Amino acid sequence: MTDRPILSAHRITHIYPTPRGEILALREVSLTLQPGEFVCLVGPSGCGKTTLLRILAGLLPPTRGEVWLGEQPLRGPDRRVGIVFQKDSLLPWRTAMENVRLPLELSGWPRPEAAGRAQALLEQVGLQGFEHAYPRELSGGMQQRVALARALAADPEILLLDEPFATLDAITRERLNEVLVELWERQRKTVLMVTHDVQEAAWLADRVLIMSPRPGT
Ligand code: ADP
Ligand code: MG
Repeated sequence: MTDRPILSAHRITHIYPTPRGEILALREVSLTLQPGEFVCLVGPSGCGKTTLLRILAGLLPPTRGEVWLGEQPLRGPDRRVGIVFQKDSLLPWRTAMENVRLPLELSGWPRPEAAGRAQALLEQVGLQGFEHAYPRELSGGMQQRVALARALAADPEILLLDEPFATLDAITRERLNEVLVELWERQRKTVLMVTHDVQEAAWLADRVLIMSPRPGT
């Protein structure tokens, strides 16, 4: 018996039009994620990993091909899919707490409940005591913890991570990988994480997907 994929990409091709001509970023990329899997995606810089993640998150419509979320085609951002970018994705004028609360507010949670959930999420990622700090007052690793807590706020089934800890030092990165695995074990999310570190991928993942140089396949 095989599970039904929770997320799948079918022959995704992506072309960026630029003033200097077209850039073929992805060619006929297909992949499937089974519920509860932790998959790493590895590939050289520029092979289209970020492009693919943005497409899987519904943030970028592919030039050709389709993404399916369970039984339905993905038509745009969806609350069931959360994403964490490499860096600088927090709103600088909102505190850690306010950043994590944002997706909850946008989906209509009452203030006190949203605050309670944001508090719990910040604790889960080890940031108790920093609720009222602004991003500029936090280290890179702490900012990425906030971004992770924010992605978890809407309780997505699938978490897409685009080299979330790549700019951090090795020790911080290892600690955050442990936080991530702990969350994954406890909450049984489906995780797709981009990394350029093959060793890290092998340590973290059930399955490692390798992409070729551009155009990624
Ligand atoms: P990776 O994340 O694997 O480093 P990207 O998905 O960021 O790769 O980029 C893949 C290719 O597409 C690269 O050649 C990059 O220069 C190009 N590219 C990415 N974003 C854009 C864009 N907005 N406009 C034009 N070209 C882009
Ligand atoms: Mg990238």
